Amino acid sequence: MLVVAALVLVALVLAGAAPRVMARRTGFRRSPRPALVVWQCVSLAAVLAALAAGPAVLPATAGPGSGHSVVGGLALALSAAMLLRLLWSGHRVGTRLRAVRREHRELVDLLGLPGDAGAGRVTDRDGTVRVLAHPTPTAYCLPGLRHRVVLTRGALESLPPDQLAAVLAHERAHLRARHDLVLEFFAVLHRAVPPWLRCEAALTEVRLLVEVLADRAAVRVAGVTPVARALVTLAQGRHPEAAMAAGGGTALARMELLAAAQRPARGLSALMYAFAAAVIAVPVALVALAFT
Ligand SMILES: [Zn+2]
Repeated sequence: MLVVAALVLVALVLAGAAPRVMARRTGFRRSPRPALVVWQCVSLAAVLAALAAGPAVLPATAGPGSGHSVVGGLALALSAAMLLRLLWSGHRVGTRLRAVRREHRELVDLLGLPGDAGAGRVTDRDGTVRVLAHPTPTAYCLPGLRHRVVLTRGALESLPPDQLAAVLAHERAHLRARHDLVLEFFAVLHRAVPPWLRCEAALTEVRLLVEVLADRAAVRVAGVTPVARALVTLAQGRHPEAAMAAGGGTALARMELLAAAQRPARGLSALMYAFAAAVIAVPVALVALAFT
């Protein structure tokens, strides 16, 4: 029964305390890829521990002298609640996101001009770019199977060619790497835990990390300076909630990280991957212990 208690404790620590501590470690942002892996592994380990705590009661109660009904009952309730909440949250988040994006895509297809309408400045080989007649400089993408990159007339007018290339590279990096699915994974888990345990700062942090990843992809295409300048230009723009934008409120933090990207922290990355593996190993080892 000690193993069951340990699984419950691991689930609570990884779902409650760990995200709050990690969201404050801004140093992680310098290595966005391993940082996202750490976030994913911590979340997965929390779910695994919560789901396994209930079933882990069974071998303990099968043996003689099993009187720890309180811990057992608690663990079973935790696992059952976690499973139901996960299924419900996955359904709710997934359906809503897809509906909002579909509606938005239909709207930009209706109102927007094709990318080649951007006076020959936009390379739109796959025909997924749409230009909206709006003066505010904004760029975002609508992820999914029938994805779109949306630019405003204001963005086309205020971004010189190198910055426009940077913005398109940023949006295409989101679409190519399916950053929307990474964020959906965190959104589902966020909604699956009870409100008192949710950590809003964790969601903000993983959103920033995928932006930093897309910025780095843009730097590889267009160079640091155009990406930084485009960030400034687009920082004033607004974008719809279910989209992923190139500018936005995190522009300042991202500019600082563009400079930091020139000095990669390789040792730190290796440490972070090792930590991610260790975190996943904890609930796996506990489950193995419970059933042996
Ligand atoms: Zn972005």
